[in-house]
Amino acid sequence: MLGSLPSFSRLVTELSKLPGIGGKTATRLAFHLLRESQEEVGALATALVEMKRNLSFCVRCFNISEGDLCRICLDSGRDDTCICIVQEPQDLIAIERSHGFRGLYHVLHGALSPLDGIGPEDLKIPALLERLSNERISEVVIATSFTIEGEATALYLAQLIKSADTKVTRPAHGIPLGSDLEYIDSATVQLALDSRRDL
Ligand code: ZN
Repeated sequence: MLGSLPSFSRLVTELSKLPGIGGKTATRLAFHLLRESQEEVGALATALVEMKRNLSFCVRCFNISEGDLCRICLDSGRDDTCICIVQEPQDLIAIERSHGFRGLYHVLHGALSPLDGIGPEDLKIPALLERLSNERISEVVIATSFTIEGEATALYLAQLIKSADTKVTRPAHGIPLGSDLEYIDSATVQLALDSRRDL
């Protein structure tokens, strides 16, 4: 039946490409939008297009940004000798929410996963190494997820980065194994950062 409604089935197809949205949910959302006013749907469409037009990734740390450099890289009040490596922009947001870190960041956009064919070149690791050789960095905090991939990435980076001039640490206390920073409460994230240990 939906095949005879090309606009409707096109919307369902597009919605079902989103993470966590199956065909059933996509259809339910499409029906919901169909009942909404022209203004409501227009506002959603505009938000999508503007987000894509205005936002990109910071050329230095790969955080979400409205300009070439993100607001953290532009903030001269931050400690630029310490960088915190995270997997995703959401992890950076979780750490910022905890107010437990005053340095800069580097977002990898993933973790190493040989089984899925994800190696260092697929992440922002070459860019990280370039930063380490160009910037005056004395400590790198590796805050990748506490999952198998996150831990493997942390060990790989520690071996790569550790030198006489650069200390490598990892948030220690109270982060449950198998978890992403994104879903952990701010107080726990702050405690973990305060009690980071050498890698
Ligand atoms: Zn940045």
